[in-house]
Amino acid sequence: MRFDIPIAKTSEFWESLKKGKFVTTKCAKCGTVSFPPQADCPKCLSGEFTWVQLDEEATLLTFTQVQMTPASFAGEKPYTIAIGEFSGGVRVLAWLERAARENVKPGMKLRIEARTAGENPYYVFVPV
Ligand SMILES: [Zn+2]
Repeated sequence: MRFDIPIAKTSEFWESLKKGKFVTTKCAKCGTVSFPPQADCPKCLSGEFTWVQLDEEATLLTFTQVQMTPASFAGEKPYTIAIGEFSGGVRVLAWLERAARENVKPGMKLRIEARTAGENPYYVFVPV
């Protein structure tokens, strides 16, 4: 996962994730909620923002089941990448875990689960 903004401005995201909270930025001026966190509003370009917690649940919009794993994931089983939509239209791309492939359907309810790999927090979707 890569962010094109200074790390200091997004550290709140990673710190919250370590505590199991999924937060992102909301523009203080026009109220646009962005994901990934944006220090500058993509809509009105304001640099003022607050952190808001996203809903517990998202709705599966679309997904891709990856059969041919790239070399960097050799040894991984086929996996599913999902785009979930939270209320307000915020869309998040993440791996979908613990979902049998034949049960994955657009419209299903997902929630974000925080994980850590060593020191590094990351997140996945799991079915509700
Ligand atoms: Zn704005």
